[in-house]
Amino acid sequence: MTAVVSSRAEPPPADVDLSVAHLRASYRYPDVRALGETYRSVDDATATAILDQAAAFATKTLVPLNAVMDRHGVRIENGRVRTAPGHREAWAAFVANGWPSIDQDVAYGGQQLPLSLCLAVQEFFDRACPAFGMLPVPQRSAARLIAAFGNDGLKAALLPELCSGALGATICISEVGAGSDVLQMRTRATQSDDGWTLTGEKNWISFGDHDLTDAIVHCVLARSDDGSGDRPEISLFLVKGGNAQSDTVKVRRVEEKLGLHGSPTCAMSFESATGVLIGERGRGLAQMFVMITQMRLAVGVMGLGIAGACSDTALAYAKERRQGGPPGAPVVIAAHADVQRQLLELAARTELLRGLVLSVANLADIAACSIDEEDRERCAALVQWFLPIVKTFGANCAFANADDAVQVLGGAGYTADWPVGQALRDARVLSVFEGTSGIQALDIVERRIVRDPRGMAAFVAQAREDGAGTALPACLDLLEDAAAHLAAAAPPERQAGASAFLALAMQASAGWVASRFLRLADDTPSHRRMQAAAAYWLDRLNPRASLHHAEVLQGAGPLTSFADLG
Ligand SMILES: Cc1cc2nc3c(=O)[nH]c(=O)nc-3n(C[C@H](O)[C@H](O)[C@H](O)COP(=O)(O)OP(=O)(O)OC[C@H]3O[C@@H](n4cnc5c(N)ncnc54)[C@H](O)[C@@H]3O)c2cc1C
Repeated sequence: MTAVVSSRAEPPPADVDLSVAHLRASYRYPDVRALGETYRSVDDATATAILDQAAAFATKTLVPLNAVMDRHGVRIENGRVRTAPGHREAWAAFVANGWPSIDQDVAYGGQQLPLSLCLAVQEFFDRACPAFGMLPVPQRSAARLIAAFGNDGLKAALLPELCSGALGATICISEVGAGSDVLQMRTRATQSDDGWTLTGEKNWISFGDHDLTDAIVHCVLARSDDGSGDRPEISLFLVKGGNAQSDTVKVRRVEEKLGLHGSPTCAMSFESATGVLIGERGRGLAQMFVMITQMRLAVGVMGLGIAGACSDTALAYAKERRQGGPPGAPVVIAAHADVQRQLLELAARTELLRGLVLSVANLADIAACSIDEEDRERCAALVQWFLPIVKTFGANCAFANADDAVQVLGGAGYTADWPVGQALRDARVLSVFEGTSGIQALDIVERRIVRDPRGMAAFVAQAREDGAGTALPACLDLLEDAAAHLAAAAPPERQAGASAFLALAMQASAGWVASRFLRLADDTPSHRRMQAAAAYWLDRLNPRASLHHAEVLQGAGPLTSFADLG
């Protein structure tokens, strides 16, 4: 009989020294430290202390919860969502420890730590229990949205509550008929003398209802026109739900899912629900990108948490498991070249993704806070360039690492005695929500090559400056050639080559991080690990980049046979 899930083996604890080494090595971390009073105070000792606490909370509270949340899922009771046993207690401890406020503005009770440090903390939590992380991410992303577009009254009313963790938050965009194609949305906002009311149905809303906070603020996109125009007018509204909800905000169903069972994915209905317009009428989608940017970065980090846990689990297992070798004296499977190849691949993805995520977080902080306008603009363009890359690379690394970890563990990996099977299920959605990988590919091609190539130009210039050896410069040549080809191509050609271009851009970005790692001077275990990952990645960079480049140039050619599929 299979062992019970709660007694299964779990990943080794997160490595705080490695995380701090990554922070120190990340692009422009020293500049982030110099940005302001609060940031300046985060020296290595403070960062280590915060990460130590995060690692302890993850190990003690979240790791045991992960399998329980997976097994129990959530349920609806008397019209309200009930979370898995232990989730409420873990949430209460999370809030008591001040974790919801770490990246928020000090003016509203936040700690305003650098985003890179906050994402390093998120990685530890997502490594332990990705479903748990599905509430804090919209919570802190909603706070940034409200800080950007709310009036003073809304900020004073909502931001302290989001910082303290007393208020949950959602992002409400998707509808049954409006997934990738947001403009198809039908939820309607109507204005009267008393203000706005919203009516419609939103689907797949993460933590649309739950029992962890008393109230929930829903950040909702809705049509604010009369439906007669060619293009819908979409505006952004805040709607109160949770215990505060009346009959006007209801959860109709929670979805049965492949993974993330502990995170309620809700079908919601709004029935003349009171909404508050924030920002400018008709600019809802553009404004929502403040929240979407944070959420896409966070998907990359969730991917990192899962990828790292799977990589470390596989390595620990492979150092113990004995198979093969001389008769009667089996060797550990980590001694076999094919297993070493897999373990290096797992570690390389993890270390390079971590390096990329933290560097992009620094760029986001500089883009928001620097007093140098030119630098702000350059960093903002780089963030926009990297966003689809981080989101998709995170999603791909999580799923690939979970898949490869199952392979390294063999039959054990396929059982519930080990966490990698759950990781495989949990990871699958990362390339679907917050914009599918196909949509990320279109985004990078249409917006970052055709419409505004400044981010790519800034990336290539920086990578050429940082890149030693021949591998990265050759890869950058391929990237520029592919971009020029797509910029000159007709739309069907561009769309057919978009995913290959995104894959090439991910290779180049990880290659840039790898080149920076090779320049690290200190001979510490963390640096040796980062450099091993870098050397492995750079050795393989050009065969892989060349394949993606060739696929970009093929464009729509191979699709001609599609018509014969039937
Ligand atoms: C667990 C979970 C949690 C979620 N949480 C939230 C949430 O909190 N809030 C929220 O608003 N939504 C949420 N979503 C919804 C999610 O964002 C959507 O599922 C996603 O945007 C894709 O939309 P769709 O499912 O309708 O797929 P579709 O849009 O139908 O896409 C299906 C396929 O077609 C492709 N495709 C679609 N259009 C194009 C195009 N123009 N060109 C090329 N390819 C295209 C896609 O890439 C995809 O592969 C969640 C979903 C899940 C599964």
